[in-house]
Amino acid sequence: MALVITEQCINCDMCLAECPNQAIFEGEKFYEIDSARCTECVGFYDRQTCVDVCPIECIVPDPQHQESKEQLLHKFHCLNLLSTTG
Ligand code: SF4
Ligand code: SF4
Repeated sequence: MALVITEQCINCDMCLAECPNQAIFEGEKFYEIDSARCTECVGFYDRQTCVDVCPIECIVPDPQHQESKEQLLHKFHCLNLLSTTG
């Protein structure tokens, strides 16, 4: 499933550059994750890099966007295709 950033986020900016899918952006009050782009890092890494760098552990699984590993891999391939075809 995609991840979500909770309101505990302190806008430290650590996670932004770490996302290989450019799924993280600066929201109105705190940083947010575009669920359509978050693959839980599947396709790139074995671990979720945003979770690894967040100093306050406010990035959690999003129960609204439950996806299997196969679905996440499919999302990864679709995003990759989009970026290569422009
Ligand atoms: S889990 Fe990976 S793909 Fe999802 S927002 Fe975090 S860094 Fe980006
Ligand atoms: S690393 Fe954590 S606290 Fe920092 S901006 Fe990202 S979600 Fe917010």
